[in-house]
This record gives sequence, C-alpha cells and structure tokens, in this order.
Amino acid sequence: MKIGNKKIEPTKIICLGRNYLDHIKETNAPIPTEPVFFAKTINTLVTNNEPIIYPKVLYEDENYNQVDHEVELAFIIFQTCKNVKAEITFDYILGYTIFLDITARNMQVSDRNIKLPWYRSKNFDTFGPIGPKIVPCSEIKDPHNLNIQLKVNGEIRQRSNTKHMLFKIPQILEYVSKFVTLMRGDIIATGTPSGISPVKPGDVLEASIEGIGTITHEIILEQ
Ligand code: MG
Repeated sequence: MKIGNKKIEPTKIICLGRNYLDHIKETNAPIPTEPVFFAKTINTLVTNNEPIIYPKVLYEDENYNQVDHEVELAFIIFQTCKNVKAEITFDYILGYTIFLDITARNMQVSDRNIKLPWYRSKNFDTFGPIGPKIVPCSEIKDPHNLNIQLKVNGEIRQRSNTKHMLFKIPQILEYVSKFVTLMRGDIIATGTPSGISPVKPGDVLEASIEGIGTITHEIILEQ
C-alpha cells in the first residue's frame, strides 16, 4: 500500500489500549501497569479520503449499532526487530502517521463483559484509516509533544496532546517487541485520548496531528 509517497507492506497493526488517563477514566477501565496491546488486521486499512464502510451487520442490530472513532499517533517499523532496547528505539522507526482505530463499541464492551476477546469489534473492513503520509523521525523532534484532534462534521470531539500518553514510544516498542517480532512496515498505534463518540453513515471525520497533517474520511453504509 502507499501512504503519501511511501510504499509499505505491513504484516500487522498493533494497537495500544488504555494509554491516555482521560480515556481510561471515560471507559471506566483500570489503569494499566504495563502496556496493553492488541492486533488489528490488514483488511482494516484505508488511506486518506477513502470511505469508512459502516457494516450492515452492525447497523441493523440495535445491540451492536454503536461505532466510535479513536484518533491515534502511529509509528511505522523501519526494519525487522525483536527485543528492542528502549534507548535505541528510533533506529527502528521509519516515521509517524495518523491512525484511526474505528471500534464497534458496544460489541467490544459486551464481548469483554463475557470474557471474550474484543477482536471482532476492531477488525471490520475499513476500520483502520491511516495517512496522509509518513513523516520521518528527523522531521518530528519530539513525538511526545504533538497536538492531536478529531472533528466530526467540523465539530471537535477529541483534542489532546501526545504528551499525555501513559507509556511513551520507547517503552511501547521495548515491551511489544519482547513478545512479537516486528517487520518492516508494521504499524503501531499508540492509543487514543478522551472524547471518543459514535459516528453514523453520512458523517465526515477529520483527524489531525501536528506536524503530520489531516486525514478525511466519510462514513458510508455498506450496500
Ligand atoms: Mg484505540
């Protein structure tokens, strides 16, 4: 796939859960003592200006028809790595981009409540918009001090700064790579701040991060 003018072939998307305190509070989740991560699948990926498809199977089921946005800073892996030490993190990062972790929220919550994985709620086609480009590490001096926001139909829903991340990028990479071999092009999303809210067909999402740009995605109902 192409993100801006860079071609990458990710093998997986790893997402941090519960990485901003204000988001942890709004979801009544416990504060983690170690990074919490899960995977999204490659079929979720779409790039800037492509629509997000609202699945019929969710739209037509009143128990499952809440789909939320989550704006996140993501980084892209530069080369295959395992057991990366935090001090040399940035040797393994190709650059930064914007990621939307679209989530079928009440499906996630009900699955979690009965101790099932939340896999299916995260992995519908198009539930992982990314872009508009990959900004190299050399152009972002401090990835932990970037304004991050998301608008729905022009109205701000999420507004924060990456300085509020609980686990920073070096800790995240060190932790995840203890368990998972990361490959060139793999995407790691660093979690969302508060302000998550439901979207519906017809809505237009604009996600922005300082120094990276904006991605714009319309929600359309699956035909
Ligand atoms: Mg998320």
